[in-house]
Amino acid sequence: MIVVMNHGAGEDDVARVTDKLKDMGYGVHLSSGENRTIIGVIGQRREEAAQTLEAMPEVEQVVFVTRPFKLAGREFHPDDTVIDLDKASIGGNELIFMAGPCAIEGEEQLLEAARAVKEAGARVFRGGAFKPRTSPYSFQGLEREGLQYLNQVRDETGLLIVTEVMDQFTVGEVAECADIIQVGARNMQNYYLLRELGKIRKPVLLKRGLSATIEEWLMAAEYILNGGNYQVILCERGIRTFEPYTRNTLDLSAVPLVKQLSHLPVIIDPSHGTGHSNLVPAMSKAAVAAGADGLMIEVHPNPQEALSDGPQSLTPQQFRQLINELKGVALSVGRLM
Ligand code: PEP
Ligand code: MN
Repeated sequence: MIVVMNHGAGEDDVARVTDKLKDMGYGVHLSSGENRTIIGVIGQRREEAAQTLEAMPEVEQVVFVTRPFKLAGREFHPDDTVIDLDKASIGGNELIFMAGPCAIEGEEQLLEAARAVKEAGARVFRGGAFKPRTSPYSFQGLEREGLQYLNQVRDETGLLIVTEVMDQFTVGEVAECADIIQVGARNMQNYYLLRELGKIRKPVLLKRGLSATIEEWLMAAEYILNGGNYQVILCERGIRTFEPYTRNTLDLSAVPLVKQLSHLPVIIDPSHGTGHSNLVPAMSKAAVAAGADGLMIEVHPNPQEALSDGPQSLTPQQFRQLINELKGVALSVGRLM
């Protein structure tokens, strides 16, 4: 249920209503738009609460939210969520580009990749220290050593850092290093992890699960939002279908659909979405045309030697060219870059 406050309701009015709700045992989430404040109310016995609230003069109306995702939905928060980071914002008019290798392999590889993607126009550097690999025999990531190299990248290049956290026990360590914390597709429904991420105050990039419906994905976001962390970025990275020519099937219809259902920023990962570097440029352009707020792209100084996901990684030069080619698409859909 959401409580729509009157136009011009001040802080005191909002406090009176939220105090009343808390007294009645409800969870409360505030969303202050440009013109008015909306209060999200979580709890049972809604009809009873609605009657009490509607009698309060500060309240314009009480609306029952029909979708199962309450805080992630547009009903609760009609305006787009824009996540403001020090050097970039995500979900506004400007597109965001996150790029870097799948896995952190060493200091030299990482710095080389970081300098190249920065020069090409990326604002956020990606690189996995904790790697969720399908096979236990594959390279498992440099873990803590990798986080140190990411710190070096930030210090040297000033790029923002996005990196994956695999479990609830390492959230603190990863959050210390990362500007944005990534939840991988395999962990989208790890509810202990999602709850832990709800407690911190750093943006979380939540990838869509390998076979998750859009509703399941938004419900996963709801776990983080319900903890009080409102900075969630959704990332579509392809879903499992019967088609073997691509690694996954990139669901681009998710972009306009999720934009209708939710206020959260949506970005596209065409690297995992296709599994092939030669498909990445076309799908990147399609993603921007479809309304995505940005892209996450794997870039490796030497994809043939990559310890993880080489076949889907662009070279720095291919990435530079792609960013150049995207300018026209961005212009045609009114996005800045
Ligand atoms: C990754 O970003 O390197 C990754 C493991 O992605 P996903 O969780 O989408 O498979
Ligand atoms: Mn990868």
